[in-house]
Amino acid sequence: MLEKRDFYINGQWVAPQNGKDHHVIDPSTEEPAAVISLGGAEDAEAAIAAAKAAFPAWMATPVAERIALVEKLISVYEARAEDLAGAMSAEMGAPIDMSRSQQVGAGTWHLKNFIDAAKGFDFNHALGDHAPNDRIIHEPVGVAALITPWNWPMNQITLKVGAAAIAGCTMVLKPSEESPLNAIIFAEMMHEAGFPPGVFNMVNGDGPGVGTTLSGHPDVDMVSFTGSSRAGRLISKNAAETLKRVHLELGGKGANLIFEDADEKAVKRGVLHIMNNTGQSCNAPSRMLVQRAKYEAAVQEAAEVAGKVTVGPASEAGRHIGPVVNEVQWNKIQDLIQKGIDEGAKLVAGGTGRPEGFNKGFYVRPTVFADVNNDMTIAREEIFGPVLSIIPFDTEEEAVEIANDTPYGLTNYVQTQDGARLNRMATRLRSGMVEMNGTSRAAGSPFGGMKQSGNGREGGIWGIEDFLEVKSVSGWSTD
Ligand code: NAD
Repeated sequence: MLEKRDFYINGQWVAPQNGKDHHVIDPSTEEPAAVISLGGAEDAEAAIAAAKAAFPAWMATPVAERIALVEKLISVYEARAEDLAGAMSAEMGAPIDMSRSQQVGAGTWHLKNFIDAAKGFDFNHALGDHAPNDRIIHEPVGVAALITPWNWPMNQITLKVGAAAIAGCTMVLKPSEESPLNAIIFAEMMHEAGFPPGVFNMVNGDGPGVGTTLSGHPDVDMVSFTGSSRAGRLISKNAAETLKRVHLELGGKGANLIFEDADEKAVKRGVLHIMNNTGQSCNAPSRMLVQRAKYEAAVQEAAEVAGKVTVGPASEAGRHIGPVVNEVQWNKIQDLIQKGIDEGAKLVAGGTGRPEGFNKGFYVRPTVFADVNNDMTIAREEIFGPVLSIIPFDTEEEAVEIANDTPYGLTNYVQTQDGARLNRMATRLRSGMVEMNGTSRAAGSPFGGMKQSGNGREGGIWGIEDFLEVKSVSGWSTD
């Protein structure tokens, strides 16, 4: 079995000081794929110390040099794309073709977008014509702890590392213990790209261990966290003592508003979107709100589309969906499907248990509930599986009310041919992102949420700015 116990600290691979073995389980087979080590406080502290020592020189490194290293990283990343795709497939269950295109592809996309954004950003500029001796300097926050989830591992790691590196922060990455293998490869890439020792460090561990040391440590100036709202709360509390900056990217319960004049592909697009990555996306459109005139037809179509979604092992080529990440998640999804049935929602596709033909692996049946109301558990909780809840509505007003009636506010979706309505919805939906008629957000657009979906923005210039302090200087010499 693959053994990957070492951590990357101060430019070297080092053995854990206080590690505990942890098996990485392949969710397609339930067999161990590798053994890693979950570090202890000493390991996290060594990484923090290395990042702290490297900070002054990295901060003083010209932005153009930092950008050049990220450019080098992209070429190394592209050369090792296949290793990354295989690792993610084995550890979190993304089918190999999807892993290659979407999971790996996301990383290149974000790194390139950061470079474009940074090239157009002035890190040191005058306040304005009225104050020629006032200067605004955008400086790195300092040592950043980067804590990432397993569902879009490379997406999250590149969003944080690319931005922090360009901003001039030094960092300690703690990837999810469910998906550490891609992060280990990524650390090898950072080394190969030539980042100076201590700028980037990586320690494996869990939340109560390394995660807690990072969020509470006085020498960590900022935590950038992506994961569950539960962990976001714990991190915020633990970070409060040292008043560090806490950037949070949390869960979601996105609504997809399908009006009666929606285009004919809207329902299918919505179903396939929630099924993508086996429903394990924070921005998944997990509540489909359909206007009454279209409702019955939409339910029927959604059931048909879900019925055609195939499920299979991550190692197999094809457009199927894979298993969910682990047993805990599988059990949680089963409970929620059962709750949907018990609370009176109408099951029109899928259901509890493994899909036909599987007696092993964390596979879930692509599931659709109709006649859901927004008070049911399946409409309120983030399921994080291939489970869609369809809710009817009559008026635009009611649709907005249902969509906004959630503690989350990450992404909402709107499907209508009425331009004025599109723009009304864009302003009335309380979420960090609104995507309309299947149009993807463009390169450099900010990703992040409102309410309990978090407070940070990742990607493009906003992603870099989250790792920067704004310094205001008066009396700047213009001689
Ligand atoms: P999780 O919160 O269990 O774990 C995420 C990371 O936090 C892991 O590295 C974990 O070890 C660490 N962690 C857990 N408890 C911690 C603690 N007390 N202190 C410090 N670190 C701790 O989440 P997950 O199950 O890995 O990921 C799924 C969640 O992530 C979902 O809720 C999903 O919506 C969310 N997510 C959000 C975004 C976004 O950008 N908004 C993107 C992807 C995933």
